[in-house]
Amino acid sequence: MSVLVTGCTGFIAQYIVRDLLDQNYRVIGTVRSASKGKNLKTLFNNNPFFVTEVVEDIAVPNAFDRVFQKYRDEIRVVLHTASPVHFNAEDYEKELLIPAIHGTRSVLESIKKFGAQTVERVVITSSIAAMKDPFKYDDENFVYNEDSWSPLTWETCQLNPQDAYRGSKKFAEQVAWDFLKENKDVLKYKMATVNPSMIFGPQLFDQSVTSVLNTSAEVINSLLHSGPDNDLSKVRNDFVDVRDVSKAHLLAFQKSECIGQRLGLSSGQFNGQDIAQILNKRFPKLEGTLPKVTGEGAYKNNPYAKFDNSKTKKILGIEFKTLEETVYDTAAQILKVEGKL
Ligand code: NDP
Repeated sequence: MSVLVTGCTGFIAQYIVRDLLDQNYRVIGTVRSASKGKNLKTLFNNNPFFVTEVVEDIAVPNAFDRVFQKYRDEIRVVLHTASPVHFNAEDYEKELLIPAIHGTRSVLESIKKFGAQTVERVVITSSIAAMKDPFKYDDENFVYNEDSWSPLTWETCQLNPQDAYRGSKKFAEQVAWDFLKENKDVLKYKMATVNPSMIFGPQLFDQSVTSVLNTSAEVINSLLHSGPDNDLSKVRNDFVDVRDVSKAHLLAFQKSECIGQRLGLSSGQFNGQDIAQILNKRFPKLEGTLPKVTGEGAYKNNPYAKFDNSKTKKILGIEFKTLEETVYDTAAQILKVEGKL
């Protein structure tokens, strides 16, 4: 039995591939080019249980057909992680919304065509952005949970790249639930979504540590290098560690309690001060180069709208890594690669 992982060069997906291989699954990973596939396979020591297939652009119609035709008798589980994750889009529809939405529809259409009776589980990597109300984030009395949906519309999500990304996740997730509902009589698979908050943690391979990291880990990378006078006031969010996100993707198809669930992943909230405190405490040698601690953190006193993910915690049974652990591990890897640790 094989697991198909889309976008397997990604920050999260590399951990998912590692964890699947550790649990003796065969993994078929889609990558955007043959050279990216070759590099990744080398990093995984050419493990014979891991093959890659090129899907250059998930937004193209029938993008996944060839992969499903080739492996139609093997694929039992599909983990769809591929989606654009960045805030530097200029054409929000073309660069963020359409690839996310069409990519999700495309992989599900291929399952319907080639794996309607063989694919048993599908996990879609969505986001807390599909649950969160961005207009209420400063309201500390507002509570949202796994049943909540972002109120962003096609129009309101296109005012800035952050909201366009949030919209891309909401609409792509909606496509997945609607597709299942509309085709429930012909599809065998059961589905869950994994909805992580901002993901920190080290890259799986030190070789992936470059001057600019993937969008979420880059938050730590840029703070680490931002100097003592950086304005931290806009840095805040919920967070979760990449290793927990990977675990959740595996449990999402392994545990029957996850069927039909939206699994909201957050370990807690943080702001720039929390990160500054951790960096200064854990890397005293770098004093003077790190952002200064000038105020209160958010990690312990949760001053923003609260995400109640108690249902998910109960279903998954994961003890999420703390902010200190995830920030330290992210920063330590960067400093090690830079020869500063
Ligand atoms: P990465 O940017 O590291 O990985 C994204 C993956 O998707 C890469 O493999 C990328 O390929 C691939 N991809 C993007 N666009 C296309 C496209 N048009 N065609 C084919 N492949 C494409 O991101 P993450 O690992 O951080 O994110 C993975 C998933 O998790 C995404 O769905 C994201 O929305 C979700 N998520 C991430 C969070 C975070 O904080 N990081 C939080 C919540 C959800 P390539 O690298 O070759 O371009």
